Amino acid sequence: MVTLEKKPVPTTVLPAQPTEIAVMNPVTGQVIGSIPIMDAEAVRQAADRARAAQPAWEALGVKARATLMRHWSDMLWDDQKNAIAVIRRETGKTELGAWEEVAVIDTVVSYYYKHAARFLRPQTRRSAVPVRHKARVYYKAHGVAGFITPWNYPLNNAFIDLIAAMFAGNTILLKPSEITPFSAQYAVDLMYKAGIPKDVIQVVTGAGSTGAALVDVVDYISFTGSTATGKKIAVKAAERLIPCSLELGGKDPMIVLNDADVDMAATETLVGAASENTGQVCISTERVYVEDGIYDRYIEKIKQYASQLKIGSGDGFDVNIGSLTNERELLRAEAQVKDALAKGAHLIYGGKRRPDLGPLFYEPAILTNVDHSMDVMREETFGPIVPIMRVKDADEAIQLANDSEYGLSAAILTKDLKRGEQLATRIESGDVHVNTTHWIFGTPGLPMGGVKNSGMGRRNGPEGLLRFVKPQSIVIDNLLMQKPTLARVDGFMLKGALLLRRIRRAFPFLPLE
Ligand code: NAD
Repeated sequence: MVTLEKKPVPTTVLPAQPTEIAVMNPVTGQVIGSIPIMDAEAVRQAADRARAAQPAWEALGVKARATLMRHWSDMLWDDQKNAIAVIRRETGKTELGAWEEVAVIDTVVSYYYKHAARFLRPQTRRSAVPVRHKARVYYKAHGVAGFITPWNYPLNNAFIDLIAAMFAGNTILLKPSEITPFSAQYAVDLMYKAGIPKDVIQVVTGAGSTGAALVDVVDYISFTGSTATGKKIAVKAAERLIPCSLELGGKDPMIVLNDADVDMAATETLVGAASENTGQVCISTERVYVEDGIYDRYIEKIKQYASQLKIGSGDGFDVNIGSLTNERELLRAEAQVKDALAKGAHLIYGGKRRPDLGPLFYEPAILTNVDHSMDVMREETFGPIVPIMRVKDADEAIQLANDSEYGLSAAILTKDLKRGEQLATRIESGDVHVNTTHWIFGTPGLPMGGVKNSGMGRRNGPEGLLRFVKPQSIVIDNLLMQKPTLARVDGFMLKGALLLRRIRRAFPFLPLE
């Protein structure tokens, strides 16, 4: 008899899945806390709570919601010292940069506090059968709106879209970036203290898998982040046929015309490209086209002003450049500088790490002799890099500005304001600034968003609120002279329609459309 030797069954031990993500202070490199990674089931449960809370939140009415939101923004304003500390601890940004985040939230809430009720008011429209039909539009919240947000402005980018969604009557699930989750949690806790019910807004924590789970359970998804992730979200939203808006990356051009104020042009370039949030801004200036006639003077000035920039981690509104937040972006910026230098660019200022200040400090790199064969002129930069290209005239500058897969923001510097405005309309981007940069972000009446690979949908303004509601149209027949008939158009309607047509043709100025 043969006995078969039993071979041991090989077992593979899978590494345990991480359940938490550590959060760092980029200035010190120290861990400042951690967040749980919520799985799909936990996200679904949060969505169930949000869905249950939504009808009462919507029924409260826009005025009552506005009062609560205003109370929250007042509390945030009063607590700005703490808000600034929380933001700075996880981003390493300057004190002024963190204060700007608080100020923008205050401005956006004030804007919708004043206008939301009017934007959401039911409207009467012209009906097809004027005497007999009444045509009305009502605006109803989508239900549960999800927000997936990035790390560069952890307060602004988490709340700037979400505020409008709350005014509109949606309940909210917010997934902040895993790199900077505490600013969002801090501001949501403050909402609870302001009297906003707990299930009206909840933070869900985690990285990409938690974000993906969120898209599976909400009725609207608002995403701010990279173009690559935004495209994945758009595909998932399309599979579920839920509406979405995408605020994505940019490669924003600045055009300096011959008649620009050269000092203004140089300082605005440095603010737009390097000092505002250390260049980690979706709408930062990322390539500069300078007309031949001003080029040499502009280069001298930009070197002069760059040497005056104050870099550091200290307090005070006079610090211009803080730490970068994300090492991945520093490596990307350095790789772009290396690629440009290898292809013939000149580094005329900076471009060095500053380990004496902290692991992620970097002196702005100013590059000249650049062209569109270089990554620095085509790929998004999220760091203080200023590539400058000489152009023969405004037409060439505009053609180069539009030679990009992105279209978020742009700037033109000129003393001829009328010409600046005309040229602005030829640029393919969601917004254009003349003689300044970035103000779109602090101007809540203006719709902000991108074209091409920079996204779709708009935040702020009436557009930014109305994306969070579904219009419902109602046609009411008042039964005047109505008789039972099998015809779609009865005699009364037919006569009325013919008369209306004649009147419209004869008196086109009458408000009959
Ligand atoms: P990112 O795309 O890596 O991450 C953004 C968010 O998406 C994070 O919360 C992340 O956890 C989540 N996420 C990642 N993978 C996901 C997936 N598969 N499904 C669902 N969620 C997922 O972007 P980032 O590095 O955090 O932010 C930088 C980018 O954001 C830059 O490209 C910048 O231009 C862009 N941005 C755009 C705007 C704007 O208004 N247009 C504003 C700020 C930042």
